[in-house]
Amino acid sequence: MKRKKILITGGAGFLGSHLCKRCLCAGHEVICLDDLSTGSTDFIKDMLSEERFTFLNQDISLPFDQDLDFDEIYNLACPASPKFYQKDPIKTIKTSVMGAFSVCELAKKTGAKVFQASTSEVYGDPKEHPQKESYFGNVNFFGRRSCYDEGKRIAETIFYEYQNIHGVEVNIARIFNTYGPNMHPSDGRVITNLIVQALKSEPLTIYGDGSQTRSFCFVTDLLDAAVSLMEHENFKGPVNLGNPSEITVLDLAEKIKSLTNTSSTITCLKLPEDDPKIRRPDIALAKEHLNFTPKVDLDEGLSKTISYLEKHLQKEL
Ligand code: NAD
Ligand code: UDP
Repeated sequence: MKRKKILITGGAGFLGSHLCKRCLCAGHEVICLDDLSTGSTDFIKDMLSEERFTFLNQDISLPFDQDLDFDEIYNLACPASPKFYQKDPIKTIKTSVMGAFSVCELAKKTGAKVFQASTSEVYGDPKEHPQKESYFGNVNFFGRRSCYDEGKRIAETIFYEYQNIHGVEVNIARIFNTYGPNMHPSDGRVITNLIVQALKSEPLTIYGDGSQTRSFCFVTDLLDAAVSLMEHENFKGPVNLGNPSEITVLDLAEKIKSLTNTSSTITCLKLPEDDPKIRRPDIALAKEHLNFTPKVDLDEGLSKTISYLEKHLQKEL
């Protein structure tokens, strides 16, 4: 096997830290670029002493001016949780847009293949269900979620044009809600919020009446598919990656209550603006080209995430 030199932007975040580990374990050289805005060196600390691992504390929205060559670039840098991406929406836009230009220029210069972490948010509050890659989406471009949704949409366009005009090899994955260990315990996403609340015996916060749906994919399944996409010779996407098993937020809360055996009650809060009502990926394309079938069901994935968050909370005490 050829040892590859792999740049992972956002490598100190949830998905990025697992991907760094996976690429390192596969024998490659990994350069993790991250500005630590939502990630943490805690997630990569066991890799920092490895000779094949380098950490660059850098903002991807600024031009990358180091003279380094790469075989592959995974572009994951961007806050993914609504709480974090809405904190500094202008920075979120710059990260997606200027970050896409930085990565494209780097790929153009070095000949590296690119994986772009796009999102189910490109479909917005969908009117087609489940969502296929051919769906153009129903996105509000003038609201609280727009900095993320539109940033990711224009990023796809930037990669599309660099592929057409400059021959950059681009692989685009539209990632649906993914969860697991190394999620930031206070990132505000539904799975971390509900588990942390359950473990602290606090009320579980449901936004709206909890009838909205999501489809949750465990991190190892998602990364199996992401690496297959990067390594595929002919298929480049855009492709939906996620687990099509759909659940309402209220049923998710009940499941977490039972798995944690908590005495917590459920409390309903205001539904945020433009919160998508339904979401489920159609993964036929990923099945056909990447032989992708998620293996970890929600009970197993949640149990692993609960153990991780339990340990994290114990450290805090
Ligand atoms: P995360 O917030 O845990 O990780 C993002 C990482 O990017 C963090 O380490 C953060 O510090 C870093 N970062 C942010 N802005 C940066 C910048 N300007 N320069 C350098 N680094 C920067 O989120 P995640 O869940 O690991 O998501 C990773 C990628 O996958 C994101 O691009 C996200 O949009 C995409 N995605 C994730 C999900 C999901 O459910 N986890 C769903 C769809 C898409
Ligand atoms: N949500 C909730 N309680 C929480 C956090 C989120 O009910 O404490 C809801 C949120 O309104 C959304 C769903 O759970 O309908 C998923 O939210 P998350 O922020 O995890 O991801 P996204 O909305 O980006 O899919």
